[in-house]
Amino acid sequence: MKYHRKIDFSEQRSAHRKIILEQTIQNLKKRAFDAEYFKDMENAAKAILKMIPKKSSVGIPGSITVREMDLVNKLEKRGNKVWHHWRPELAGKSDRVIRLKENNSDYYLTGANAITTSGEIINIDGVGNRVAGMIYGPDNVIIIAGYNKIVHSVDEGIKRSKDIAATMNAQRISSATPCAKTGVCTDCNAPRRICRVISIIHYRPWQTAITVMLINQQLGF
Ligand code: SF4
Repeated sequence: MKYHRKIDFSEQRSAHRKIILEQTIQNLKKRAFDAEYFKDMENAAKAILKMIPKKSSVGIPGSITVREMDLVNKLEKRGNKVWHHWRPELAGKSDRVIRLKENNSDYYLTGANAITTSGEIINIDGVGNRVAGMIYGPDNVIIIAGYNKIVHSVDEGIKRSKDIAATMNAQRISSATPCAKTGVCTDCNAPRRICRVISIIHYRPWQTAITVMLINQQLGF
């Protein structure tokens, strides 16, 4: 096939991503997660607002994806009690209190560092509140992930979590870690290392309803 003029191939790319996301959804369902496809974050945000009752409390840990979707404001505006610790005035004890409130909410809204096409969910954490809240505490967990989080193996997911997610987070908070300067993970031994816990959710934990929303867009780190 010859192309003589500039052509937009974005539809073809999107169609390919959709196939991969839908295969991932089927495999997430085999692992007892609810899982759903969304073409963009606007449609996903609408579905989340429909899913969460207005009277429910919502916990939001550190997540770029959730904030890119402006869900803290959207939920607060319509009356939900939202617990979230990314607030400059919080420090020490009050920071810990809010993180515990997040993990004790009716709904927990978070992103993921990586999701394998076979349906495993991988996360790296420094404090540990986010990985804890995803597996035990809130009755309902909603995990939102853009196409950029999809990987083909657990090893690739751990590598992505360190080389991309943790490194970009270290840069975001100007952390005194090698990756904040070099942009790559050296599996450091720095006192301010932010990668302290890795969780791999192989199967939905017994007492937690987990819905995974996969979005055909780039979102989060
Ligand atoms: S260099 Fe250290 S802090 Fe940075 S991603 Fe690697 S282990 Fe994490």
